[in-house]
Amino acid sequence: MYDLIVIGGGPSGMMAAGRAAELGKKVLLLEKNKSLGKKLKISGGGRCNITNAEFELHQFLHAYGSAEPFLYSAFAQFGVQDTFTFFESHGLPLVVEARKRAFPQTQKAADVCSTLEAYMKKGRVEVRTSAPVTRIETNSEGLIAAVVVGGEVLRAHSFLLAVGGVSHPETGSTGDGFAWLKKMGHTIHTPTPSVVPLAVKEEWSKELSGTSLSFMKITFFMDGKKQFAQTGKILFTHFGLSGPLILNSAHKVADLLHSGLVTATIDAYPHTDLGALEKKIIHVFDANKNKELKNIIKEFVPDDTQKGIALLLAQEMDITKQVNSITKEERKKIVHLLKALPLTIVGLMGFDRAVVADGGVSLKEIDTRTMRSRKIPNLLVTGDLLNIHRPSGGFSLQLCWTTGYVAGTHA
Ligand SMILES: Cc1cc2nc3c(=O)[nH]c(=O)nc-3n(C[C@H](O)[C@H](O)[C@H](O)COP(=O)(O)OP(=O)(O)OC[C@H]3O[C@@H](n4cnc5c(N)ncnc54)[C@H](O)[C@@H]3O)c2cc1C
Repeated sequence: MYDLIVIGGGPSGMMAAGRAAELGKKVLLLEKNKSLGKKLKISGGGRCNITNAEFELHQFLHAYGSAEPFLYSAFAQFGVQDTFTFFESHGLPLVVEARKRAFPQTQKAADVCSTLEAYMKKGRVEVRTSAPVTRIETNSEGLIAAVVVGGEVLRAHSFLLAVGGVSHPETGSTGDGFAWLKKMGHTIHTPTPSVVPLAVKEEWSKELSGTSLSFMKITFFMDGKKQFAQTGKILFTHFGLSGPLILNSAHKVADLLHSGLVTATIDAYPHTDLGALEKKIIHVFDANKNKELKNIIKEFVPDDTQKGIALLLAQEMDITKQVNSITKEERKKIVHLLKALPLTIVGLMGFDRAVVADGGVSLKEIDTRTMRSRKIPNLLVTGDLLNIHRPSGGFSLQLCWTTGYVAGTHA
């Protein structure tokens, strides 16, 4: 008989198990995969964006949208500063990069996982890997047992579900938790990919795969009507558009896609108006009359975008053309393309490419001061299972640290 069985060895489960054990509880952690933290190890491109160094609580929690009011008590128990202190005191100092994103100084997500494993080991958490839970048993009082593959029945006073959501299912998160929670009477908001790349129709965009364009403004339209715009870095991939700017716009684009045809334009000169850009280009053309267009692109676009812009222009015109043979209409076309390159958004990429999926158990049914279910008193829930919209930038993992710590404390 254990005090606590944690199902799921991702970041929130490991934090919760370590914390409960630190407080003297007898804890068993069950993980389906051969090793712990498979998703954690690929997070942040293998570097793990562990949190976001926004220390002003209201500002930080504002990022979670409608979940904000539910999170104050949990964050009062374990907030962003606590994440820095926790990892530093366990030998893994953090560094802060652009957009306040915090990473381990070692730049290795695997080190974050080892730190949590060491934390659990110190508290003598019993960890079983290759142990998928196939069933959970309940009676009128609550949860009584977890049954692992092969039929072994494991009992505890409390159970924590930390099996994650449905993004990147190859990492182990296959939605088992949603099914169990539903069966136990909980309301589950259907998961949809939210922080996810966008698929575009234009074939030429695939040729730009791997090209990253900085300081671009992308404007989204529905049925030709402007909806919203964002400025930042855009990454072209073999299926469409990605990069932080796109990932964080995806949930709004998803809403638009329900209602109409979604198109977008990319403005490579967000801070220069059409007239000023044309003047600039005329000036460059005048000074380079006998050169080929492709060789003077560098004169009017920044370094990191040259290759991308050349490819973009090549879709519409012959870029080996000599500048003095470019007509006024062609010049206007260049200016227009640089200011409003048209794209058609055909959809969001699926769960397999999603960094975050919205949806999960209704927060009204979880006491977020303890992470206990309001329906089943000996059940706790953490991490991606909770219905909280999380932007990219370290906000998902901070939720894991906070909810895991709080659940471990109150288990
Ligand atoms: C590509 C990618 C990059 C990301 N990068 C970042 C980032 O840099 N920063 C950030 O904040 N967030 C990032 N995220 C999101 C972040 O990784 C998740 O929010 C986080 O991993 C969720 O943790 P969790 O503990 O809720 O669940 P998970 O990490 O999903 O872990 C759940 C665990 O439960 C196990 N499990 C599932 N079913 C069972 C079962 N039946 N029995 C036993 N075990 C089971 C799974 O195998 C898995 O190990 C990224 C996500 C992806 C996909």
